[in-house]
Amino acid sequence: MNILAKNKETHQNSIARFQAKRKKRPSTEMLIQGIKDGNRTALSRAITMVESNLRSHKSEAQEIINHCLPLGKKSVRIGITGVPGVGKSSFIESFGIMLTKMGHKIAVLAIDPSSSINKGSILGDKTRMEDLVKDPNAYIRPSASGETLGGVAKKTRESVILCEAAGYNIILIETVGVGQSETAVHSMVDFFLLLKLSGAGDELQGIKRGIMEMADAIAINKADGDNIKSAQKAKIEFQRALHLYPPKENGWSPKVLTCSAIEQKGIESIWKMIDSYIQQAKKSSWFENNRKKQTKNWFLNTIEDRLKDNFYKDPTINEALQIQLRAVEENQTSPFTAAETLLAMQAEIWKKQ
Ligand code: GDP
Repeated sequence: MNILAKNKETHQNSIARFQAKRKKRPSTEMLIQGIKDGNRTALSRAITMVESNLRSHKSEAQEIINHCLPLGKKSVRIGITGVPGVGKSSFIESFGIMLTKMGHKIAVLAIDPSSSINKGSILGDKTRMEDLVKDPNAYIRPSASGETLGGVAKKTRESVILCEAAGYNIILIETVGVGQSETAVHSMVDFFLLLKLSGAGDELQGIKRGIMEMADAIAINKADGDNIKSAQKAKIEFQRALHLYPPKENGWSPKVLTCSAIEQKGIESIWKMIDSYIQQAKKSSWFENNRKKQTKNWFLNTIEDRLKDNFYKDPTINEALQIQLRAVEENQTSPFTAAETLLAMQAEIWKKQ
């Protein structure tokens, strides 16, 4: 056999070996054990399973999640939001590297409902967080795409559980302020950080209603070079604005800080502030109670979403819904009677199933 034919054969063998390896999917038990051992490949595979819409993957994913649930009690979940360009990824890079140097293991996830629209996932771009991606104590996962906000949020929540079970003790969840994505992130974190920029005295303009109430802290980024003065001004303005909001349920008064993600200034103070919040929240049991509340809401919302989904996706119901809608519009029946008719139909369908 000549050398070329031999090389070809070796190459084909290696492809066959690779394909055989790929086909041999690790068992659920192997994935669970891998996650417990902190194996990143196992973690990634399990997250892919969580993100998959295949029925067979779904049941496997749930089994893995149930095993992982009790394993991640000591984590801190931090939500980070801000408009595109504010410096979220630069901040996460600086913040993340500082945390891993302190001995923490961090996971970065994202809720990005915009990625399904413009196909540009906020964590999908490999050039972002260049140093952090190489850090062995950091795990970065681009957001699930092609999904509704509810779908992405569910997958992110489940991925958080897997990351925690794999030993990541600080979870950063990034989002751009698209739709209700901040609310979704807020509902799954212990601390919510809003990144802002200083502008020409109009800091408070264009800020979404509700987001100030959700923020546990505001960090004014890019406080460097010529920007330092305006960042200080913005800080005072935000502090004043935050005073106008009623105090938080847990007694925490939201803080305003300045930082420079690029020059790594003020980053440590932000961590110290978050850490002191966590200590305080743990002492007062707020931390534990808030997590319980979030889990409870997640459970109830899942039921609600599933019920709605089953209802509206049923073709018989859908047809009847159009008829009843017209009847309601033309005052031939009351909205209440129409709703009762449809719900009775749904109950009948269930009985038959
Ligand atoms: P994101 O869209 O919110 O993730 O923002 P990026 O992290 O991609 O940053 C947007 C731009 O702002 C990039 O050109 C960064 O280099 C720049 N940037 C981010 N943080 C800082 C900072 O602290 N100071 C300065 N001067 N520029 C920054």
